[in-house]
Amino acid sequence: MRVGGERAFVALGANLGDCEATFSAVIEAFEREPDLRLIAASGVYETPPLGPPGQDPYLNAVVSLHVWLSPYELLACLQAIESGLGRDRGPDAVRWGPRAIDLDLLFFGDRCVTLPDLEVPHPRLHERAFVLVPLADLAPALVHPVRGGTVEAMLAAQEGVDDIVPRARPAGWPGAR
Ligand code: ADP
Ligand code: MG
Repeated sequence: MRVGGERAFVALGANLGDCEATFSAVIEAFEREPDLRLIAASGVYETPPLGPPGQDPYLNAVVSLHVWLSPYELLACLQAIESGLGRDRGPDAVRWGPRAIDLDLLFFGDRCVTLPDLEVPHPRLHERAFVLVPLADLAPALVHPVRGGTVEAMLAAQEGVDDIVPRARPAGWPGAR
């Protein structure tokens, strides 16, 4: 039994290629990581695209992890998984444009991190229904360490929740625990 570590929440998003297969592959990638354990996974949702027009709908979900890593090490791990699954971070990649996979670190315990390339809690999570809906599957009573409200209260303040549609769990997708 390994002691210590921290609870982290990670958002998954994808709208290019076979998004369900990509989500299954993310779960497999987490299961291969020695310094984290997958605790639970939300439902999987189809959500309208934000950002540049003309994009396909997104698939979104949230997982909780127990990690024996620093926040920065976890970000590096998430970016390595993104790259392995075909995420293009080259100079031509469009911000908020279509992507094979986006893994965002939402919370890391109740820690606040402000670095040039890492901000935790994620700075936009409180205004994104496509994050809050799946997050509320796992942790409705979780309190945002900076803003003070619960996930459930942040969700209640969102517009567009009705446009978020539950989808069947992809093959190998874990149940909420
Ligand atoms: P977005 O997730 O906002 O659509 P990207 O995935 O392209 O955009 O991320 C852009 C940058 O955001 C990354 O290079 C990463 O260093 C930075 N970043 C800052 N905070 C976080 C966070 N909490 N989780 C993931 N990336 C983050
Ligand atoms: Mg991201």
